[in-house]
Amino acid sequence: MDKLRSLLDRALGPSKVLTSPDACLAYAGDDSDQEPVAPDAVVLASSADDIAKAVRAASEAEVPIVPRAGGSGKSGGCVPVAGGVVIATLGMNAIQEISREEQVAVVQPGVILGDLHAAVEAEGMFFPPDPNSLRMCALGGNIAENAAGPRAFKYGSTRDYVLGLEVVLVDGTQLRTGKRTVKGVTGYDVTSLLVGSEGTLAITTAATLRLIPKPHAVTTLLALFPDVQASGRAVSAMIAAGVRPRCIELLDEGTLDAVRVRGVAVDERARAMLIIEVDGEPSDCDAQAERIGEVCAAEAIDILVAQDAAQRDRLWEARRQLSPATRAMARFKISEDVVVPRDRIPALLEETRAIERETGVRMITYGHAGDGNLHVNLLWNDEELLPRVEEALNRLFLSVVGMRGTLTGEHGVGTSKADFLAMEQQPELIALQKRIKGVFDPKGLLNPHKIFPRRQLEAASVTVAGRAVSLHGAC
Ligand SMILES: Cc1cc2nc3c(=O)[nH]c(=O)nc-3n(C[C@H](O)[C@H](O)[C@H](O)COP(=O)(O)OP(=O)(O)OC[C@H]3O[C@@H](n4cnc5c(N)ncnc54)[C@H](O)[C@@H]3O)c2cc1C
Repeated sequence: MDKLRSLLDRALGPSKVLTSPDACLAYAGDDSDQEPVAPDAVVLASSADDIAKAVRAASEAEVPIVPRAGGSGKSGGCVPVAGGVVIATLGMNAIQEISREEQVAVVQPGVILGDLHAAVEAEGMFFPPDPNSLRMCALGGNIAENAAGPRAFKYGSTRDYVLGLEVVLVDGTQLRTGKRTVKGVTGYDVTSLLVGSEGTLAITTAATLRLIPKPHAVTTLLALFPDVQASGRAVSAMIAAGVRPRCIELLDEGTLDAVRVRGVAVDERARAMLIIEVDGEPSDCDAQAERIGEVCAAEAIDILVAQDAAQRDRLWEARRQLSPATRAMARFKISEDVVVPRDRIPALLEETRAIERETGVRMITYGHAGDGNLHVNLLWNDEELLPRVEEALNRLFLSVVGMRGTLTGEHGVGTSKADFLAMEQQPELIALQKRIKGVFDPKGLLNPHKIFPRRQLEAASVTVAGRAVSLHGAC
């Protein structure tokens, strides 16, 4: 570590290098349940050259290198679990270009997503990815996690909007990948490989992003249901009817309680809610809203339409507060982001009820039902319940894989789900990905102990609630 510190000081000057334990502690954790670990040093990067110098120094000292953006990750991705140097990128926060003619933006990795939204929308354009952390997460983290939010149902996730990247490799090489044009098929699609690689292959120093025209009108509807199963059926019915809202968000009974505690008035008869939003031309919005009303009418207690932008903003603010609001409901919380095929949403909701009954661990669910991506939250107060929580989590993941779903829709594997990867992916696929990692990072210095499992799954299939579920590539 002494070698690392002197190499960093020499390369970057002391003003960009933090080494005091107190200062390093601020870079120890994220928003996951991963135990925070203070790094040995932090580099406050302000340019790609700074990152290249820091990476060369860390490689020479053979210590781990962990990129960090907003620190809002939910899978332990930026936690320096093996110590080493954190590369803090929030200082690289310039929106370098917004081109209306080409419909692209070029950004540094520390740009806060909400700031990019405001800047492009002021120019009549639109960057659709909208994780609910948009006021605290930054583009470097969004790209590393392939982040997505409610609007992914219609518009897709971050990967769909990344045209090209500038990155630093672990040996300090600076590379450009991808293109600025909308089309282009030269060589392997390295850009897509890097998006979602959770900071394990390269460090992003700039990104060229695709923009689209801003929709002219948006209509937001609230549909209230007597139970969560009815809301799940309404989601399936909307998809089957070919309706294409930009988002369908589901809130179950426990989540509605959290919202009510925060002072939001919700009809007491409601045990589940869908927030549904459509966009396009005003006449399209009216037609789509009418169709949604017809589809939901069979099961809904009530369907309300937000009357103006202010009402819509209040609604989304309540939705964005769900993560902290549900965290306040118990001493401990784990928030999962599983995805199931959309016609299995009612089955997943049923399964969470069964797991809750049988393990005694409280489970509440909300999330992006349009994508089948639901945040199942496990809440408990008593530390002694931990074995039950682990059992509940295992059962949840096995059920999801058994439904041909996937363990994470947007939060990434990080450390939180590394040990479960083999439930979903066959050993050969994991081995292939490890070989790819080895090509980029032969010494395993870049964000180590992320994604790949530390323990092996022994069985090829297991029994969950009386059903045989095959592992290793069930998807
Ligand atoms: C309240 C709340 C709501 C959330 N809602 C959503 C949601 O709706 N959808 C969603 O997808 N996520 C959501 N998240 C999770 C989180 O905000 C996203 O994963 C986000 O993309 C992380 O961005 P960040 O800037 O905070 O990254 P960080 O947490 O700093 O890092 C995340 C990962 O990116 C890597 N990384 C960071 N910068 C770089 C870089 N320059 N180059 C390479 N790798 C890098 C890190 O090493 C780490 O692996 C939510 C989180 C919170 C707290």
